[in-house]
Amino acid sequence: MEDEASVDPILSYVRGRQAAIVETIRAFVECESPSDNPAAVGRFVEMVAERAGRMGRTRTCPGGRFGKHLVCEPALPGRRKIGQILALGHSDTVWPLGTLRSMPFRQERGRLWGPGVLDMKAGIAFFLFAVEALRELDLPVRSKVLLQLNSDEEVGSESSRPLTERNARSSKAVLVLEPGTGLEGKLKTARKGVGDFTIRVTGKASHAGVDFEAGASAVVELARQIDRIAQFTNVARGITVNPGTVEGGTRSNVVAAEARAVVDIRVPRLKDAAGLEKKFRRLKPFDDRCRIQVNGGLNRPPMERSPGIVRLFRTAKHLAEEMGIRVEESATGGGSDGNFTAAMGVPTLDGLGGVGEGAHAVKESILVGRIADRTALLAKLLAVL
Ligand SMILES: [Zn+2]
Repeated sequence: MEDEASVDPILSYVRGRQAAIVETIRAFVECESPSDNPAAVGRFVEMVAERAGRMGRTRTCPGGRFGKHLVCEPALPGRRKIGQILALGHSDTVWPLGTLRSMPFRQERGRLWGPGVLDMKAGIAFFLFAVEALRELDLPVRSKVLLQLNSDEEVGSESSRPLTERNARSSKAVLVLEPGTGLEGKLKTARKGVGDFTIRVTGKASHAGVDFEAGASAVVELARQIDRIAQFTNVARGITVNPGTVEGGTRSNVVAAEARAVVDIRVPRLKDAAGLEKKFRRLKPFDDRCRIQVNGGLNRPPMERSPGIVRLFRTAKHLAEEMGIRVEESATGGGSDGNFTAAMGVPTLDGLGGVGEGAHAVKESILVGRIADRTALLAKLLAVL
């Protein structure tokens, strides 16, 4: 590994910049950016824009009730650019302001720790240093490169989706800066589609003691519906249906008039979503005095492992081998903005960011030993695609 690595110019350049990369990740993590706080996200976006602005053009796009989305076009070596590559990431995190007090950024036991370090501030830093490497080494890049950072990815990407789709439409490939899978940092070539349904049951209230039979319990009806809905899960086909929250009723001595459940769905194929949707829409009350209202559907279409995605992965695998690194591919149940671009038919390779564990959890961390090769792999992909 050492031999190949020492002859790979990009990897040796990036290794020389390791301390600066760590310092950048620290600055990014310490600039907290929860999705629901546009001002905080804005401060982080400014920080990235300031750094990216030294290497090319940057602009921001309004994010509605969320922070601004950032688009950067770094100036890269290479005369004639053919087509465009979109690097896709997000500036928001799931962590509320003040999380740093209990989870401060720190480097220990071979890892960097802190809120958002894996998902996905490391990935953003890797991109910036990949661009720096290409510029400093004056390596010709074949395509125009665009970086887009969305401010609302952790909350469904409602505001950024049109921008993502517009930039993806004019791209021949999309590289997603989300973390890799597991401590091996497997790349992601398939993601399930994600959606949710809200089931509202309206029954009839009555006094549980005086007038029990006049009531029709929305809670009992919902419980029976949930049992039915849970059976829509088909683990063998990768379809999962999770009634995640329930609420209903007012007091224990009242037959409940209202109840509600929110159900998360995950599907590996688009056609599974249509089948599931039909089943939800066809739900009928067991007690015909109750009414059922179903809302919702698929939010993110599945990222299906297309031939174009497989080709992109093989290219990445080959480029990693040049550095003596083995990369594997993986499928995940979690969604990203790569779901949108893959569903449009644009070859999308995901999981190119940090290698670590604990996204959205207190043990969120990345492996310091994988910072250099991930940054170098990104640079190599940007150069050849
Ligand atoms: Zn993420």
